[in-house]
Amino acid sequence: MKEIRMVDLRGQYEKIKNEVDAAVVSVMESSAFVNGPEVNAFQAELQDYLGVKHVIPCGNGTDALQISLMSLGLKKGDEVITSDFTFAATVEVIALLGLKQVLVDVCKDTMVMNVEALKKAITPRTKAIIPVHLFGQCPDMEAIMAVAKEHNLYVVEDTAQAIGAQYTFADGTTKKAGTIGNLGATSFFPSKNLGCYGDGGAIFTNDDALAHRVRGIVNHGMYRRYYHDEIGVNSRLDSVQAAILRIKLRHLDQYTAARQKAADMYDIAFKGCSKVTVPTRAKNSTHVFHQYTLQLAQGVDRDALIAHLSSKGIPAMIYYPVPLRKQKAYDTHDYDDTQYPNTDYLVRSVMSLHMHTELDAEQINYIADAVKEFVK
Ligand SMILES: *Cc1c(COP(=O)(O)O)cnc(C)c1O
Repeated sequence: MKEIRMVDLRGQYEKIKNEVDAAVVSVMESSAFVNGPEVNAFQAELQDYLGVKHVIPCGNGTDALQISLMSLGLKKGDEVITSDFTFAATVEVIALLGLKQVLVDVCKDTMVMNVEALKKAITPRTKAIIPVHLFGQCPDMEAIMAVAKEHNLYVVEDTAQAIGAQYTFADGTTKKAGTIGNLGATSFFPSKNLGCYGDGGAIFTNDDALAHRVRGIVNHGMYRRYYHDEIGVNSRLDSVQAAILRIKLRHLDQYTAARQKAADMYDIAFKGCSKVTVPTRAKNSTHVFHQYTLQLAQGVDRDALIAHLSSKGIPAMIYYPVPLRKQKAYDTHDYDDTQYPNTDYLVRSVMSLHMHTELDAEQINYIADAVKEFVK
């Protein structure tokens, strides 16, 4: 059996090595290292893939979120609602900009933003919502967009874990994750579903005015060379990464299919095992399985299970062990603990098994057997 790795970037690289190596050498030879033709080509190809008018590449996913919020012209103290159960980058950028993070509970089954909790959290100071497409699927975007419309709020999608996922509206129209709200922010960190070999990110929008603003902000608030109309940042995708991303984008649907196939094989392997709940697929979204996250039944000793798996050479991770509202950096002490039953349950019971594009049936059955052997 192949060695089990939490993410197998090496195995994936080996299959596209010739293409990638040639593309990297060609960037070296062109010496257009930043904002060169590769970046423009990647931008256009990703726009095409996503069916979105503007893709603005930037330095990483956290920047993409921050720049998106900056482009909305919010004022200090304005409230931005996001999930209590997500990676810290989402809430970090809200706090960094002097905005107020308002954290809401998620759904127990799909683990993404709970629309009822969202509705309850809206106040006259709420200005934006950041739904997070956690683990690879969209929250109920149709309902979230309706709430946003009713209250005149911006929606910035955090699609760092769900590039390529597709959402279907009640009328049958479909849109790609990150192209539904006013803005979408994604990451090309190596382990993400579309990952480069370093850092990278991008912002998506269909709104020409927001796209213009974002293009200025990523470049020092400069809309005309050496005229700085506002305080911006320096956040760029370099050409080597863009060249690699162009190649990987051509394989993205096939990578997604490999992840989905691995998830289905796990599901089958866990059939009949009452101690684990396999990932629930959201009703209106495809799942691109950035993570395959189990919920363990009460009574299963998660730490001991992870130690058991580790002794067999199987990595398993807890995404995420602490709700954001209880993280030292973000604990404002002004939340009502009774409002987060699902997040509080999930931080105790989730466990992600390894998931990537290079998994095979032998590995999956070995892993699932090791879990079942422990939980009985
Ligand atoms: C990875 C990730 C980010 C941040 O992306 P970076 O490129 O690492 O800055 C933001 N949000 C979520 C949900 C993520 O998983």
